[in-house]
Amino acid sequence: MHASDEKRISRRSFIKGSAIGAAGVFAGSMLSPGAKAQQADPRIPQKWDYEADVVVLGLGGAGASAAIEAHDSGASVLVLEKQAEATHFSNTRMSGGVFHNPDPAGDRKALVEYVKAMMCGKNIPWKLEGEQPHVSDAMAEMYAEGVMEVADFLLAQAPDLDRKGMAPGGKASFPMFPGFEEAKYGRTVFCGYKDLAKADPNLPLYERPRLTKGSGEAFHWALVEEGIKTKRPGIKILYETPAKSLVQRPNGEVIGVIATKDGREVAVKAKKAVVLATGGFEYSVPMRRAFLEGPGVKGWCYYGALANTGDGILMGIVAGAALSKVAKSASRIEPAFPYGEPWEKLGLKIGTMSAATSVPHSVIVDNFGERYADEHIITDSTRPYRYQFYKEAVKYDMLNMVYSRVPSWLIFDETLRAERPVVNMNISTVGYGFLPWSRDNMDAINRGWILRADSLEELAQKIQADPENRQLMDADRLAETVRRFNSYCALGKDEQFNRTPSTMGPVEKPPFYAMKMYPGGPNTKGGLDANADRSVLDWNGNPIPRLFAAGEIASVFKFTYQAGGNLTECIVCGRQAGRNAAKLAPWG
Ligand SMILES: Cc1cc2nc3c(=O)[nH]c(=O)nc-3n(C[C@H](O)[C@H](O)[C@H](O)COP(=O)(O)OP(=O)(O)OC[C@H]3O[C@@H](n4cnc5c(N)ncnc54)[C@H](O)[C@@H]3O)c2cc1C
Repeated sequence: MHASDEKRISRRSFIKGSAIGAAGVFAGSMLSPGAKAQQADPRIPQKWDYEADVVVLGLGGAGASAAIEAHDSGASVLVLEKQAEATHFSNTRMSGGVFHNPDPAGDRKALVEYVKAMMCGKNIPWKLEGEQPHVSDAMAEMYAEGVMEVADFLLAQAPDLDRKGMAPGGKASFPMFPGFEEAKYGRTVFCGYKDLAKADPNLPLYERPRLTKGSGEAFHWALVEEGIKTKRPGIKILYETPAKSLVQRPNGEVIGVIATKDGREVAVKAKKAVVLATGGFEYSVPMRRAFLEGPGVKGWCYYGALANTGDGILMGIVAGAALSKVAKSASRIEPAFPYGEPWEKLGLKIGTMSAATSVPHSVIVDNFGERYADEHIITDSTRPYRYQFYKEAVKYDMLNMVYSRVPSWLIFDETLRAERPVVNMNISTVGYGFLPWSRDNMDAINRGWILRADSLEELAQKIQADPENRQLMDADRLAETVRRFNSYCALGKDEQFNRTPSTMGPVEKPPFYAMKMYPGGPNTKGGLDANADRSVLDWNGNPIPRLFAAGEIASVFKFTYQAGGNLTECIVCGRQAGRNAAKLAPWG
């Protein structure tokens, strides 16, 4: 089914269906009392329902790239995808579509050094975290080679993509990293198909005709609809078939997958290998509780695919995989709301991309009413910090024993409310219909997602009445914060945090508004440990035979993150996993 059919499917029923699917898989794999026994004594089915050389789990950018590469290397390929075809919205599809395309004139050795610094910082004398010394050298080499082919790989799937928009360009994020100058490691906005400029802006991205598609929608379309369905019909996809567990021989070799299809368990034989590409754990309650700093469930938000519940991470753990920097997250702070079953019941909020975190007539304050950072960092692509802002937001106030910035509050005035939607209407969960939003923000105000008051004092009282504020808000401090910020606007200089002047404008026209902001963002990055071949490693650093991983589930970016890295690694690492899986001799 294609995008035109999607119009007929209610967003609400999709959310419900997807949620039940996600919760079902989770319950099946996490809570089953048989799960432990299975780990110790793997069940090898007498009869297989499906078989292929390479079985890929998850059809995002990483899974699609792995499937294409394995197919082109001569393997038969079967993809299991949890979501239904008509409403299949992976993180890849919901994304901004930005990826890296370094200048081929750059120095290759410098590129390896720059990439290594991003991945683990091993070659930076002052770095303090991001360890993956056992894999980083080879991984940086592999990545530096693969990244040069990303744009060509996309164009080979979809020649109608806009070549000019994908030309090498942009600036690398980290001038302090080795190789920055010589590597010419830019990034480029993947602006989509060649008629993108003619797109009807009132149509959601996923309903636009192919040649006017852009962002992650175009990235997904090129790989899945064109690369797989049109160009390689031999690659079989089973939608609505969530994988539940891996079938392993006693020696650890992975030989198949147990999945659920049409309400029953099916056994899928993988003659050569399984590639895990099920994305991150953004919507897994137990994993968020286990891995994220502070209140991981209620106090964090993500704004991508609700189906990403860490299923592959769990399958890997059961199969003996080592974990690596699981709490790493490409994150900042974003608005989030309790909305839709079962997310609300589970205590999870659905996040969405904010369009107002560093625009005039707004400030961000903590629960006491104090600004704590230059708000422009959250969106400023000219500085390297924006995907690390979450670390500021989860800072623990030791003396008061409180995460005083969870949630934070976007305070804004009537000028901003009337001027623009305060969330991104094109991509992310609003763009894909998971969260309702009206352009004038009134819908959110009426739902109580945005508080409104005629004065700042009244706004402070309303914030204080919200249980998540834990009665910390101080009306005088909030009024003083806004007064001070407005004086900086008049001065043209933020004397407290040095916010970029062009992003400043006074918060002065009543009524005033407050919207909660949580640490979070597009995706998690930590998960399974995997080497440069993309073989999943056990706790001794040895590859688990016939098991590969690519994408968010085992992101290579463990130290820091440059925007566009995740989509880039989907192709680089997905291809690497698919290629290596296809190379193996079949076991049966
Ligand atoms: C709003 C937004 C904007 C972003 N913008 C950018 C950007 O501009 N540039 C960039 O580089 N990155 C961006 N990212 C991040 C990037 O999109 C993701 O990190 C990347 O797409 C992940 O790809 P993936 O293939 O690993 O996972 P996904 O694309 O999420 O695919 C995982 C797939 O696995 C399926 N699945 C889950 N569990 C199972 C199971 N048990 N069995 C079978 N299938 C399963 C899911 O349904 C899904 O289809 C953005 C993310 C979001 C949400």
